[in-house]
Amino acid sequence: MKFRFPIVVIDEDFRSENISGSGIRDLSEAISREGMEVIGFTSYGDLTSFAQQASRASCFILSIDDEEFGSGSDEDVDKALESIRAFIGEVRKRNADIPIFLYGETRTSRHISNDILRELHGFIHMFEDTPEFVARHIIREATKYLDCLAPPFFSALMDYASDSSYSWHCPGHSGGVAFLKSPVGQMFHQFFGENMLRADVCNAVDELGQLLDHTGPVSASEANAARIFNADHLFFVTNGTSTSNKVVWHSTVAPGDIVVVDRNCHKSILHSIIMTGAIPVFLMPTRNHYGIIGPIPKSEFDPETIRKKIEANPFAREAKNKKPRILTITQSTYDGIVYNVETIKDMLGNTIDTLHFDEAWLPHASFHEFYHNMHAIGADRPRSDETLVFATQSTHKLLAGLSQASQILVQDGTNRKLDTHRFNESYLMHSSTSPQYAIIASCDVAAAMMEPPGGKALVEESLLEAIDFRRAMLKVDKEFGDDDWWFKVWGPDVQAEEGLGDRDNWIIHEDDEWHGFGKIDSGFNMLDPIKSTIITPGINLEGKFDDVGIPAAIVSKYLAEHGIIIEKSGLYSFFIMFTIGITKGRWNSMVTELQQFKDDYDQNLPMWRVMPEFAKRYPQYERTGLRDLCTEIHNVYKQYDVARITTEMYLSNIEPAMTPADAWAKMAHREVERVSIDALEDRVTAMLVTPYPPGIPLLVPGERFNKTIVRYLQFARDFNSRFPGFETDVHGLVREKINGKDAYFVDVVKD
Ligand SMILES: *Cc1c(COP(=O)(O)O)cnc(C)c1O
Repeated sequence: MKFRFPIVVIDEDFRSENISGSGIRDLSEAISREGMEVIGFTSYGDLTSFAQQASRASCFILSIDDEEFGSGSDEDVDKALESIRAFIGEVRKRNADIPIFLYGETRTSRHISNDILRELHGFIHMFEDTPEFVARHIIREATKYLDCLAPPFFSALMDYASDSSYSWHCPGHSGGVAFLKSPVGQMFHQFFGENMLRADVCNAVDELGQLLDHTGPVSASEANAARIFNADHLFFVTNGTSTSNKVVWHSTVAPGDIVVVDRNCHKSILHSIIMTGAIPVFLMPTRNHYGIIGPIPKSEFDPETIRKKIEANPFAREAKNKKPRILTITQSTYDGIVYNVETIKDMLGNTIDTLHFDEAWLPHASFHEFYHNMHAIGADRPRSDETLVFATQSTHKLLAGLSQASQILVQDGTNRKLDTHRFNESYLMHSSTSPQYAIIASCDVAAAMMEPPGGKALVEESLLEAIDFRRAMLKVDKEFGDDDWWFKVWGPDVQAEEGLGDRDNWIIHEDDEWHGFGKIDSGFNMLDPIKSTIITPGINLEGKFDDVGIPAAIVSKYLAEHGIIIEKSGLYSFFIMFTIGITKGRWNSMVTELQQFKDDYDQNLPMWRVMPEFAKRYPQYERTGLRDLCTEIHNVYKQYDVARITTEMYLSNIEPAMTPADAWAKMAHREVERVSIDALEDRVTAMLVTPYPPGIPLLVPGERFNKTIVRYLQFARDFNSRFPGFETDVHGLVREKINGKDAYFVDVVKD
């Protein structure tokens, strides 16, 4: 496998007709003759962005000779050394290993201070050795560096794929050859490329180890990742955190067990409840009037509160064993709320068997002190005595994993260790026997990328970009002034600060005005800056509607038509995130696109002009002005007082009539019927009912519909018929056309 990692030379004289210029060019040519590419630069330019290029290089050669020293005065020497020191500093912030050589005249070397020398792989004395000799020395170091880059599994997979052995095992495409036998297959082959197909192998290949038994290079990679993430055990999962969650649950929960679960949890946790036959009691999160889901209040974690919840639940109070088997919370909610894990551990003590933090959105946290204590597992974190701590992370969401790349991290208790053999039985229950090796390799690489110091630099970069984005938005706001409108980014005020600013700003305090979660314990939660919720005009934190408003659904469709796809939108908010893949260009174009939207909105330009594709699909809006459409939808939201009914329905009293597993049994046995939403009151749902936004399950199978929920569903129907193209999506509803009109149903348990 031939990679492109050029040797980078930085020398003012790289292109000059003088002694120093010809010396460095001779060296470069000698390196090229040995088969290695050289790229020459004549200045450091913008240090930070230059140093970021370090990931593309195999070695740096920095020139330091009389020319760089200018007149040779102390001042000039200091200046030259300063830029070299700054450059090396920037490189080493991200990369501890890439070789750096200084190249100069012997008499200049005495100027180099120890802090620079320490970071070097050598000082090359101009003209003392032949260029060929020096070139080979440099290439040796560069090659040594490249050879150590790939972590164990990725390395083994590359070796295997380039080995050209004939395979008789699955997959049937035999390293891609099958595709070449058909035109569309050819197309597929050319699109994905030979390596991806050669690396798509099956678990019959011994030399790669087994994911399912955690052996060979796979296990070496898992151990490597465990070290990097500071976990006692770490398992790669190639079917997403949806599967990781089920693995953790099935390893410890059995039918009839009481489990304590964040009501704002991911579907996969509810599926786990159904599959294990557990009896759930729920911890209720707060929410504000923007519809943003807040933290579960600290008091909900008090063992006494949990005991009362158990007593109040008709199924839990009958359970033989009252000690909850597991507690699962969403650690980093969709909107970016995280919890102080040590406080939770302290509060719960040994009252719960297993603590599980669903960190699908938080794999980056252990690499930066910004998140200190606000994530489950990391360096120097105290252990519980008896309680195991699990974290499940979607490597693919915020780090550089391929879709479905996920991992399970475990912290043992002081007196109780995970039995990995038994745990693996649960792992097997949920894993495909044909894992995708490219995903395993991406788990391996995503972890290796976070190896210090690179991981911290990457996380710091996304934090900085996220905070700079907020500052840029505030600046635009200020320019428009009080008489005009602009979007707000939900969160603390960061304008007065520089860089990352004070972490305490992001900690949620009782008296902070920005969050709108009401009285809440200070210091228990933090907002992760990399999640940015953008608020559109229309409603205030008290839930009062303004005269005019801009529903987020329109903004997000507008952005989509202009090539910006956002994660999720609510009523008057939408959400973007700053992964480690973020760039300045990306968030800058978000700011300019929003300005474009404002322009079009203020001029009330017709839909056919500003959103032509959308207007083509929904011609009823063609001639409506953008502002008029916003106002129309806003008025309907206002008329129904949507913000209030959504809040009320989530706070309404919901009664479990049977356990989720029993309700599922009714589904499996077809003891269910499809009932119109108008007749749902008091019926028991067999489906998970989840409105988007906010994406929190409203009803879990086995729970009863109440009046408030029915009213919300009727609103959704009414709204959808009035505004096609802007449908509120409620997962769990069945939509059927009856006499040309949309009718909505839910599958409920037969009475
Ligand atoms: C996305 C998500 C999951 C599932 O992760 P996948 O990797 O998509 O399977 C689990 N929990 C939470 C909180 C999530 O946001």
